[in-house]
Amino acid sequence: MDDASVPPVAPSMGVRGVGGVPDPGGGGRWILHVDMDAFFASVEVLDHPELAGKAVIVGGTGARGVVAACTYEARRFGVHSAMPSALARRLCPQAIFLEGRFRRYVEVSSQLHAILERFTPLVEGISLDEAFLDVTGSVGLLGPAPTVAIRIRRQVSESLGLDCSVGVGRTKLVAKLASKAAKPSADRTGVRPGPGVVVVPSDREAAFLGPLPVRALWGVGPATAKRLDDLGVATVGELAALPRELLVRRLGRAHGSRLAELARGEDDRPVVPAHDPKSVGHEETFPVDLVDGAALRRHLARLADASASQLRRVRLGARTVTVKVRFSDFSTITRSQTVALPLDSFRPVDALAAALLASVDCSRGVRLLGVSLSGLGPVLSGTQLAFPLDADAGVGGGAPPRDDGVSGDGGPPGGSGPAGDSERLQAAWAEVTATIDGIRERYGRDAVGNLSLLTPEGLQGKARGEAQWGPSRDDDRAGRERPRGVPRG
Ligand SMILES: [Mg+2]
Repeated sequence: MDDASVPPVAPSMGVRGVGGVPDPGGGGRWILHVDMDAFFASVEVLDHPELAGKAVIVGGTGARGVVAACTYEARRFGVHSAMPSALARRLCPQAIFLEGRFRRYVEVSSQLHAILERFTPLVEGISLDEAFLDVTGSVGLLGPAPTVAIRIRRQVSESLGLDCSVGVGRTKLVAKLASKAAKPSADRTGVRPGPGVVVVPSDREAAFLGPLPVRALWGVGPATAKRLDDLGVATVGELAALPRELLVRRLGRAHGSRLAELARGEDDRPVVPAHDPKSVGHEETFPVDLVDGAALRRHLARLADASASQLRRVRLGARTVTVKVRFSDFSTITRSQTVALPLDSFRPVDALAAALLASVDCSRGVRLLGVSLSGLGPVLSGTQLAFPLDADAGVGGGAPPRDDGVSGDGGPPGGSGPAGDSERLQAAWAEVTATIDGIRERYGRDAVGNLSLLTPEGLQGKARGEAQWGPSRDDDRAGRERPRGVPRG
C-alpha cells in the first residue's frame, strides 16, 4: 500500500481508546465508519482558500432555507446542520452564506468512495460524505483495523485535501458513534481538533456507550427520549441496566427490544455494498405558497424530468408514480398510480404526475411539491405498442387516479386513462429520450428539455439536490411564481 510504514497504533496519530489490542473480540467483525468533517463547507473552503478559518454556512438562503453544512468556526456560535438559515444568521451574523454546489460535492464524494474501495469491496455509502466499511477480511493484508483507519484518514487528506473522522468498532452502531467522538469540537472558546480516529474494542464498548445520552442511539427521537426520561433514564448505560421486559412493556415489542439490544451494543446489521435503490425522486419547498395551477404544473414538470433522468442513469424504470403535496398548514398528502410497464421517459412520468396533481385541490396554497418513482425494475426495451401515438395524450386528461398511496394495477397496456396513456408515451418517447440524454451528457442539463420547462431565461431543468435545502432566494425562479393577490413582501 501507499504507506506501509504506519505503525499499528500510535497515540501520536490521534488514536484514542485503543487498548493496544487490534482484536475486535466478540463477533470478530471490524467495522469502520468514515465521515467527512463539515463536508459541503469544507469543499467550499478547499475551492476558495480565502474562506479558511472563517464561519462558512452552506444551505438555503431564503426565508425557509435550512443549513446543510457549516464550518466549525460557525459551530462555535451554535450553528448546526438542519437549523433554519434565518436562525443561523441571527446566531452568527458574520457568517458567509453559500448556496452550495451539489454537483461539485457529488464529484468529491465519488473520489472519496473510490479511495474507500481500495481498502475493501465492502463499502456501504450512507450519504455523500459517509460510509461504513467492513474490513474484517482485509486485516491480514492491510494490517489491524486501527491501522486501516489511520491510512484511510491520511489518504483522504492527501488525495482530497479534506479531513474525515473514522470510528472503528465491532458493530455499525459503535463505529458510527466512535466517528462522532473522533470529530473536532467547537464552542465559544474556540475550535479544538478531534482525535481523528477512535477505536472501541469489544471489551471497551460498555465504558464507551454508557455515558452517551440515549438520543445518540438510532430510533430514539424526542418522544422516546421523553418516555425514557419518565423512567429516570438519560444515558445509554442507564438504558442498558433496565430489564428488557420493562422496555418492551413501555415502548412496544419491536421498538423496546431493539433499544435494549442497541443499549448493550448489540447490532448485527451487516455492511451491504451498493444499495439497490427502492425509489428515486425530487421535492421542492417554495419560498411562498403556490396556488397558481400553471406555476405548480411547471414545477411538477421539472421534478418529473429530474426524477426520470435520475432513473435512466441507473438504467431502471418505475411502475409507480407518486406526487406529494404539502400545504401551507404542513398537512401532507400523497397520490400514487401504478402502471403495468416500467416507465423511464419524461413524458409518461410527467403525464401521470399531472393527472395525479389535477386530482388535488391546491387552492389553500402549496408549500412543497414532490415527485417520486418506485416499483423499480428493468425497462423492457423495444416495447412496441400498436396504438396511434398522440404526443399530447394523457396530460391532465383521462380518468381520475386512485387515492392516497393505494394504487391500482394500472390495467393492460394501452388501456384508457392516464395509465394507458403513460404506456403509449413511454413507447413513443423512448428513442427521443435517449437522444435528449445524449445531448445533455455533451452540452449540459439545460441544453435540451421539454417545452414545459421553458422559461424566459431558457430551459430550467432540475439538478439532483438543487433547492433541497429550501429555496435559495426569495426572489428566485420559484419566487416569481407568487400566488395571485399576494403582494411581494
Ligand atoms: Mg459528515
